[in-house]
Amino acid sequence: MKSLRRKILLFGLTAMMSVSLVACGSKEESTGETYTAGTYTAGTYTATAKGNNGDVTVEVTFDSDTIKSIEIKEHGETPGISDAPIAKIPESIIANQSLKIDAITGATNTSNAILNAVADAVNQAGGDVEALKNAEVADNEAAGEAVVKEADVIVVGAGGAGLAAAVSAAEEGASVIVIEKNAYIGGNTVRTGGGYASCDPEAISIHEMTDGQMAEIEGLIARETDNEVVKSWQKKVAEDIEAYKAEGKTQVYDSLEYMSLQYFFRFSQAADPELLYDLVSKSKPTKEWLGELGFDWTDSPSLLLGDTWPRWFSSVSAHGGNLFVSVFTDEIEEKNYNVEIIKEVRASELLTADGKVVGVKGTASDGTEYTLNANKGVVLATGGFSANKEMLIEYSDGRWADVSKLQTDNDPAMVGDGIKMALEIGADVVDMGHLQLVPTCDPKTGDAYPFIGTGTNLYVNKEGKRFVNELSDRDTLSNAALAQTDGIFYMVCDKNNAGIGEDGITYGGQNIQDLLDADIVVRADTLEELAELIGVDSATFVETIEKFNEAVKTGVDPEFNRASFGGDFINPDGNPGIFEAPFYAGARTPSAHITKGGLKVNTSAEVIGTDGNAIPGLCAAGEVTGGRTVAGLLEAMTSGRTAGKTIMGK
Ligand SMILES: Cc1cc2nc3c(=O)[nH]c(=O)nc-3n(C[C@H](O)[C@H](O)[C@H](O)COP(=O)(O)OP(=O)(O)OC[C@H]3O[C@@H](n4cnc5c(N)ncnc54)[C@H](O)[C@@H]3O)c2cc1C
Repeated sequence: MKSLRRKILLFGLTAMMSVSLVACGSKEESTGETYTAGTYTAGTYTATAKGNNGDVTVEVTFDSDTIKSIEIKEHGETPGISDAPIAKIPESIIANQSLKIDAITGATNTSNAILNAVADAVNQAGGDVEALKNAEVADNEAAGEAVVKEADVIVVGAGGAGLAAAVSAAEEGASVIVIEKNAYIGGNTVRTGGGYASCDPEAISIHEMTDGQMAEIEGLIARETDNEVVKSWQKKVAEDIEAYKAEGKTQVYDSLEYMSLQYFFRFSQAADPELLYDLVSKSKPTKEWLGELGFDWTDSPSLLLGDTWPRWFSSVSAHGGNLFVSVFTDEIEEKNYNVEIIKEVRASELLTADGKVVGVKGTASDGTEYTLNANKGVVLATGGFSANKEMLIEYSDGRWADVSKLQTDNDPAMVGDGIKMALEIGADVVDMGHLQLVPTCDPKTGDAYPFIGTGTNLYVNKEGKRFVNELSDRDTLSNAALAQTDGIFYMVCDKNNAGIGEDGITYGGQNIQDLLDADIVVRADTLEELAELIGVDSATFVETIEKFNEAVKTGVDPEFNRASFGGDFINPDGNPGIFEAPFYAGARTPSAHITKGGLKVNTSAEVIGTDGNAIPGLCAAGEVTGGRTVAGLLEAMTSGRTAGKTIMGK
């Protein structure tokens, strides 16, 4: 702290003495007055700037030559991700009396919003914004003394899988250290829409089965396969369906075998059937475990983008993926578990002794070296690698024409660190080219949000035509989307299925007015007007909507065979028809979303080496793993829980 103050004072002195060296042309230069680091009209000023989710409002207090305090008065930024910039950026501006502050990694937009709002306040107070943007920042990032710590279990990555592993190990009495390279916890898990897929035949039976769904079941039973396990699933489902028909049932059917069968064929038949069935079998017990930890699940499952089966559950109260993180941090606090979460430390190496993994080496953002010794073992939970273009290119299996052109909706931290560390000590990888795109991202940024609708809405291309069954799997949707003019389509919704709450907040967490102001979404009272706003031929567009609405009403879709026109994830009782104004549309394109390949693991979450044996002391959970072809929250929660137990010998 001493050196920091000294640098600030030195800077002030330099600025005062060297007027001609100040880069910007301040009025003090021209009048020959002495320049100071800041010259303000003392007082408190309010200013706003655009963040990720709308305006960020700050209140800044100045005396005649100092920024005294900065208070964030209002913001709609994503909890978790925005915590670090909200805590750190104002503190850093004040400590350095500078606006030349680096954005927090992974939270650039929130960081910049705070910096821009403070710049506006500086301007209002008569200060010199350009000078502050050039004001040097003290080097307070000097590495500290090397840190050596020990715990039973070291978890690398504080996303959903890592935190599930930490709590599960703590339940078995472990001391745990979790290291996280970001300044915030949650990884991609907090970015999610919060949908968790679970096989629960009783819960799903609130939905009536459509003809399209029955046709899908019969189609899957008849699919050719050489795999004996998959054949046994087909046999079991065929028997179930025979009984179902005999009993005159009408509700949606589900079973462990059917969900496994569906996912096996849906995802390129690439899954290891044993791993896939294990995952599906654990879906409900893990959901119940989360419920015991305090997760408030919806009773009624529904559809999610890319699925045909309404088996997605979410939180009643929480938005998106937040609860998949806070349920664990709350549990750690409530039970007073011996779990320490250390942020801003990036793991770089697995430590081994006698062929066993015994710890992790890492480096903090200030350069401090960390050695973390594990009595029992290490859990890698570093997520996927959608944000690492070099790895996407290296491992591309050609399923996407040019991965180098793809944007991603991932946290920038998802660069495959865990895979690289494990490869160094002889781990095996599987299915590494299996990249899933999500079709519904923002063409400008690649982000999944901002977002209008829920993903299962009507898709229309630039020619004003529907081009795909919107309930197809994500590969089919993304391929179809990339084949459209400019790789872009419009998601079209009406008043009832746009996913806008009474408070004007969308399913994606943004204020609808902000989306309209930013031209990310357009709104109209007539279909003709909407067509004009998105620049498509009005007559074709209206005809497309009429045909789609007819399919919604009759449940029969002669053009694309969409199997269900029921409600979706957030509006289970609704439908996707475009019936009631206002009408909305937003441009969308595919982005790199989930890397399904990764470290080879067994059903106990142990990492398998290239020699075919489990590597002692090393487990992996979540998107860093491969072999199941079903990534997402289901994989993160179930495999994280399993890894925590396995590493404790349970
Ligand atoms: C926009 C979006 C929406 C999604 N929506 C859904 C959905 O609704 N339902 C669903 O099932 N799935 C969804 N997914 C997929 C899902 O988010 C992920 O598959 C899942 O969260 C992965 O969990 P994880 O714990 O493995 O990884 P993450 O949650 O990504 O966590 C990995 C953590 O490891 C940290 N880390 C990485 N490297 C290091 C290192 N070297 N040292 C220390 N820490 C490190 C990262 O910073 C991160 O915090 C979505 C994904 C995205 C991007």
